[in-house]
Parts: sequence; structure tokens; C-alpha cells
Amino acid sequence: MVTVESGDIAPEFDLRRSSLLLDIDGTILDIAPTPESVRVPPGLIDSIRALGALTQGAVAFVSGRRIAAIDKLFAPLKLPAVGCHGAEFRARADGEIDEAASLPDTLKRHLEEVAGIAPGLRFEDKQHTFAIHFRAAPDAGPAVLRALMEQRPVLAAAGLQILSGKAVIEIKPRWFNKGTGVSRLMRQAPFSKRIPVFLGDDTTDEDVFRVLPEYDGIGYAVGREMEGAACLFPSPRDVREWLARLSRP
Ligand SMILES: [Mg+2]
Repeated sequence: MVTVESGDIAPEFDLRRSSLLLDIDGTILDIAPTPESVRVPPGLIDSIRALGALTQGAVAFVSGRRIAAIDKLFAPLKLPAVGCHGAEFRARADGEIDEAASLPDTLKRHLEEVAGIAPGLRFEDKQHTFAIHFRAAPDAGPAVLRALMEQRPVLAAAGLQILSGKAVIEIKPRWFNKGTGVSRLMRQAPFSKRIPVFLGDDTTDEDVFRVLPEYDGIGYAVGREMEGAACLFPSPRDVREWLARLSRP
């Protein structure tokens, strides 16, 4: 695997024939103590907008965040997006958001209780998925996972799975993931006629790495080596510098 550090020659690909699919947290943005406290560094929105023009609109976000939260974070920029790990989908920047069914309230109350087992844990209701964040209580991660694992038969019977990410544990229906979201995007113009280039950093991005070969796509990992990735960016900052360079052909 090739490692791309700041100032290195970045991987080259033809923007006229490719699409760019971007995970957000840990890929183009540095991870912050809470999802709300991330910072969009100056210049990033301009780079992404310029890349959108160079690819005739074939730049999309593929995130665990809800699409409304993505829009707010990158305002005024809006892109086609796979949100909430595939539960939300927007084919066009100005289109409607298509959503999966919400998770039941009983489950929500139950998981809120799990999030109450230690101070500093934060429960996030994303409607189609639930997340328990433990960045502010790093030692509580294993206890949360244990508590959820005890409920695994109940969750599995309801078609739910437990995803362990960076300082977050998510509970989501099994039938969608970022990979199913990307497959859906690849059936839509302008993505359908282009080779997807996907950048991701976390466990949930592995579902995308798995579907990329179907589309002759290329995956780049951020922060750690990942199976199926063609090269590795050490940090989101290296990705941002690469995007800035790509956006100035
Ligand atoms: Mg990420």
C-alpha cells in the first residue's frame, strides 16, 4: 500500500471519468470530542465545490451523519449524499432526502438506559440508527459494548446489528450500510458512468471498500491500513491538502 503524506505526489486519476465519494469524520474532518464540535477548516468547502465542477457534479458525501446535519456543517454547500449509514439517500444536491423507517421508541428507551451506565456517555438518536458516544468517557467503551452484547439476541431478532467505531457504538438495521448506499448512488447519473474513488477511515467504511470492485472503483484509507484500500493517507489533513491540489488542475 502506498502512503501519501503532505507534499508527496498524490495518487492521480482522471477527474473527467471519476467520481469522488467522501466519508466525513476522520476522513476529511479531524475527529472532535462530540459530533457537533467538529470544525470545517477554511478552504475545504471551496476545494469540494471546485471538485464538484470538475467532475460535473460527481462528488458525494457518504457518512454516518444525517444528511440535514451534513448540510448544516458544510453550508452553503450541498452535495448528493448517503447519510446515516445508508438509511438516508439523496441522489442530487437539490433533491429530496429519501429515508428508511425510524427505529422503535421502545428500543430507544432501552439504549438510553445503556448510555446512562457511566458519566460522560452521550446517546444520539439518529432516528434510523442510535449511537452511544464515549469520546468524553473513553474508559466506558468496553462496558457499553458488554451491556449491548448481552442484548445481542434481542437486537439480532429485531434485525439490528452493533457497530463499533471510533469512540462510538452504533445500533442499526442490518439491511442497509454505507456499501448499499454507494451501490444505490452508482445507479444514478452522473455517478453511473464514472469510476468511484472512495475515501474512508472507519469500520463502517469497509462495507464500501467491499462493493467498490463491482464498479472498478478505488478505495483510499485514512489513518490506518484497511483491507481493499489502494493507498493510505495518514491523516484528514493530508486528505484535505490532496483535495486542494486536485481542485486546482
Ligand atoms: Mg469516518
